[in-house]
Amino acid sequence: MYDIVIIGGGPGGYTAAIFAAKKGKKVVLIEREKLGGTCLNVGCIPTKALIHSASVYSEIQNAEEFGIKVTDVKIDWEQIQENKNSIVSSLTNGIKGLLKHNKIDVVFGEAELMDVNTISVINGEGKKQLMAENIIIATGSKAIIPNIPGSDLTDTITSTEALSLEKIPDRLVIVGGGVIGTEMGYIYNGLGVEVTIIEMLPKILGNMDEECSEFMANELQKKGIRIAANSKVISFEKGRNGITVKYQQENEIKEIQADKVLMSIGRSPNLEVAEKINLKVDHKGIIVNNDLRTQIPNIYAIGDVTGKIQLAHVAAHQGIIAVKNILGENKKMRYDIVPSCIYTNPEMASIGLTEEEANKKYKQLMNISIFPYSHNGKSLTLGNTKGFIKIISEKKHNQVIGVHIIGPYATEMIGEAGLAIQLECTSEEIASTIHAHPTLSEAFMEAAAGIVDEAIHIVNPLKNN
Ligand code: FAD
Repeated sequence: MYDIVIIGGGPGGYTAAIFAAKKGKKVVLIEREKLGGTCLNVGCIPTKALIHSASVYSEIQNAEEFGIKVTDVKIDWEQIQENKNSIVSSLTNGIKGLLKHNKIDVVFGEAELMDVNTISVINGEGKKQLMAENIIIATGSKAIIPNIPGSDLTDTITSTEALSLEKIPDRLVIVGGGVIGTEMGYIYNGLGVEVTIIEMLPKILGNMDEECSEFMANELQKKGIRIAANSKVISFEKGRNGITVKYQQENEIKEIQADKVLMSIGRSPNLEVAEKINLKVDHKGIIVNNDLRTQIPNIYAIGDVTGKIQLAHVAAHQGIIAVKNILGENKKMRYDIVPSCIYTNPEMASIGLTEEEANKKYKQLMNISIFPYSHNGKSLTLGNTKGFIKIISEKKHNQVIGVHIIGPYATEMIGEAGLAIQLECTSEEIASTIHAHPTLSEAFMEAAAGIVDEAIHIVNPLKNN
């Protein structure tokens, strides 16, 4: 009998397993494919490796500005793939080593819950049963394939295939302008592909701070990415000239040709594991409380399968909270301070309330300060001055309630913002913290100083003045 059986070896499952083992629990982790799950194998890590290749290519093309002349720049797709694959395998091997080091049993195979303590695992060697006092379901999600005529064509692909194409296509149509679609668009546009994003909503990155997502859309369009917003795909048809994508934009029917069509309209939870035990689910996934428990007290669910916020750091944090609750600590998950990042150039990162949300909640009782990267010395030395840092504070104490960054290293800078919100920092406290010079983080300090009219390198940072 195990203390905890964890089903799924992605960032949710393996984090929970290691954390539980460190706390002295007897743990088994079941994985049907590869340790590391979506994140390490076909998600966060491989996309960032490709983004880096695309960014290196674009930096070299602009190297003359910095006094570096480079000729004969070429893309070697095979090497890009090799680099990506070697990063993935070094990380997944690392996870394997950590699981071993923490004496966690790893069983490969398809798991299914038979009852509230019994799990069956089927693999090439047959079927076996494992017993556990507690179960954590961390089975993740899969790409949604829309029910549109032609979506089963071989050249209509998901993000998984898009990461490992045999060759770079000439024309790529991306259905869905969320984070994955936007990052994929950035990668392939950077590698010289004609990219079009078709988005049903009025804008891409619909749930992010509006000013930031509009800035991002403009930047991507400047790079040559076409964005068809307010557009609904009607059909895909294979012809001699690739795939014809037919879509309706407002009242007009339009067509575009593509060599590959990437479907990125969202991901649905992997629920098969719990079919026999009637766990409560909704359209997003397994229903859990903020303590990550399902309606069955010894069964927990974490990560994408809960459909809360489909991000690796959410899955991992949920894993730790679930284990703490198994240990009897009574911890709750907070979803209001989760950073969201987009790793394009410019990068974008957000935490807390967006301006639109803050406007609804606080009305006139808030201040917004914006500090542009163009006023920051380090940004100038990097040749990357596009973007800004927006801090939203409530008016009574100037406590920070939202931070939205678009520009260089936004995804690194958001860490400080997360800490500030978690610790309920006021803008004065951030402004009075000495930040090293010259750094991009000074821009964060100055945005905070802007809230209390103490910013040095900008005349009027307050947006609502
Ligand atoms: P997963 O990582 O999906 O792992 C679930 C595991 O469970 C899988 O390995 C699966 O094989 C296994 N499994 C499923 N069913 C069974 C079963 N019955 N028996 C045994 N094993 C089973 N998130 C970020 O935070 N940052 C990013 O930059 C980012 N980029 C992304 C880019 C792409 C292209 C994609 C697709 C996703 C990205 N994500 C990113 C999202 C992130 O990958 C997921 O949120 C994260 O992997 C979820 O972790 P998880 O542990 O819940 O599930």
